[in-house]
Amino acid sequence: MGTESNIKLIDEKGLRIDGRSPEELRPIKIEVDVLNRADGSALIEWGGNKILAAVYGPREAYPKHNQDINKAIVKARYNMEAYSVDERKRPGPDRRSMEISKVLSEALETAIMVEQFPRAQIDVFIEVMQADAGTRIAGLTAASVALAAAGIPMRDFVAGCTAGKVDGQIVLDLCKEEDNFGQADLPIAIMPRSGRIVLLQMDGDLTVEEVEKATGMIMGAIKKIAELQRNALLTKFSAVETEGGE
Ligand code: ADP
Repeated sequence: MGTESNIKLIDEKGLRIDGRSPEELRPIKIEVDVLNRADGSALIEWGGNKILAAVYGPREAYPKHNQDINKAIVKARYNMEAYSVDERKRPGPDRRSMEISKVLSEALETAIMVEQFPRAQIDVFIEVMQADAGTRIAGLTAASVALAAAGIPMRDFVAGCTAGKVDGQIVLDLCKEEDNFGQADLPIAIMPRSGRIVLLQMDGDLTVEEVEKATGMIMGAIKKIAELQRNALLTKFSAVETEGGE
């Protein structure tokens, strides 16, 4: 974020570098159960992002000294493939992916009824195959669907979006150029039914008023995203019904 540049990100008509209006989301598509061997999985395409979430568990936590006698441990692993960005990324974990894995694990743990599975572990693999800004939020949104598809009891979905500041304006759902050359990026994820915030980070600088405006935009977008999550799961369950009815 924040590499100062002379690139114009908003044109004289108020349209953004990819033609969107300030409050327009990129196209989002969620597909459920894309992997046979995971307990639950989801593929999300969000603008240029392509991210796979795969869930394994709950299973007995191993090694045993990691077990929590009161609840399941949630381990999300966020990984960016070497081919997911313009210049080949060095494969394997780095500081950024470790930080994202931690915040995503914590966000998911709040939503999962972990108390129902003492001594267990739930693994969530988030593989970024193509990155185009907003990958932590898109990965989290997909992971929440994959957990529900795995039949893991949850208090609610986790759904999120980002907003930020580009050319001095608050806009929703930053694309890569806006993330790279804009002035701020604010990813937020909530549990939509309760409105409880499970992830909030910020990069750059915003005034209190700008944060309020950005948050308002994000909350509006999250309603649409949660609807997409529900629809993706309904497709899965209606598909099961059709098979059973034959
Ligand atoms: P998020 O993807 O959640 O927005 P960041 O703000 O850290 O997280 O990254 C923004 C975007 O920058 C990523 O989505 C990706 O397109 C790009 N990016 C991140 N890390 C790298 C990297 N190591 N090499 C190239 N591009 C990267």
